[in-house]
Amino acid sequence: MGFSSLLGQPTVVQTLSRALTGGHLAHAYRFEGPDGVGKELAALQLAQALVCEQGDPLGCETCSACRRAVTFHPEPPRVPQHPDVLFVQRGLYPASVLGSGSEATGIGVEQIRRIVLGRVGFPPHEGRALCIIVRDAHELTLSAANALLKTLEEPAPRTHFILLTNQPRRLLDTIRSRTLAVRFRPLPEQIVGDLLEARGVPREVAAFAGGSVSQGLALAEEEARTARERFVAAADAALAAPDLAGALPLAEQRPEERDQLLQLLSHLAHTYALRARAAIREETDEAQRLAERYGVVTRAMTDLQRNGQAGLVLEAMVTQLRRT
Ligand SMILES: [Zn+2]
Repeated sequence: MGFSSLLGQPTVVQTLSRALTGGHLAHAYRFEGPDGVGKELAALQLAQALVCEQGDPLGCETCSACRRAVTFHPEPPRVPQHPDVLFVQRGLYPASVLGSGSEATGIGVEQIRRIVLGRVGFPPHEGRALCIIVRDAHELTLSAANALLKTLEEPAPRTHFILLTNQPRRLLDTIRSRTLAVRFRPLPEQIVGDLLEARGVPREVAAFAGGSVSQGLALAEEEARTARERFVAAADAALAAPDLAGALPLAEQRPEERDQLLQLLSHLAHTYALRARAAIREETDEAQRLAERYGVVTRAMTDLQRNGQAGLVLEAMVTQLRRT
């Protein structure tokens, strides 16, 4: 097993697998490359290998330790459930944990002191080793970087660091020279397409994602937002038009997928609810009408969920909206 979910990075998998099976894992790595190509995933899989209770040198991925290494606490701070897999990231921990210091400008020295130095040098709680993952390591403040440097220069036994960054040049030279670079490439379009599809995003988006899943997700979100805005604008136009012909643009906005139409309708209902609330606040007499519109749209959603034919449901909705 090992690195089974890290797709499209064969060189990285080979490098890390060899280091693990050969027993010459570096004390500190620097995973470099664009966002959304698997750096953190690789770090987590490396962490699994270090804490696996089955003794699988690459991590069995199924034992309790392996699973807890990649399962995050649902409540903040959202860190892995395994006590030997630590995360450092700007703003990850509340002030109550760090004691003091704002992290507005970067990862503060307090975080390094409390989260990292407080653990380094002590044996791991459960696993074979302690694994410390630093997200966006280029955001280390100078004092934090220097505090970290000390432990990078004098490696504690059974402790491994993985610094993640998309801007390695922003790291101190001294940090760079103490960490071994592993370079991550943009992913092949095919793989980005697969990964996007698994998250419910049309795979065509991959063509514009530059080999990055996070970029693809951001694009899809942007596209979805534009579609929502257009849908609301078309609904407004349909209501303002002198006759039903004005509803044509709205019909044209109708997506083929029922779920997508439901999402758009849900957004429209939400928009009416927000407008109604604003009308109440501003004490205009629109509130009643907007509340009725909200009701019309939610009823249309129910009809659609009961397998109503999308075109007819939309038409009936516009007719009723125009009566409000
Ligand atoms: Zn395991």
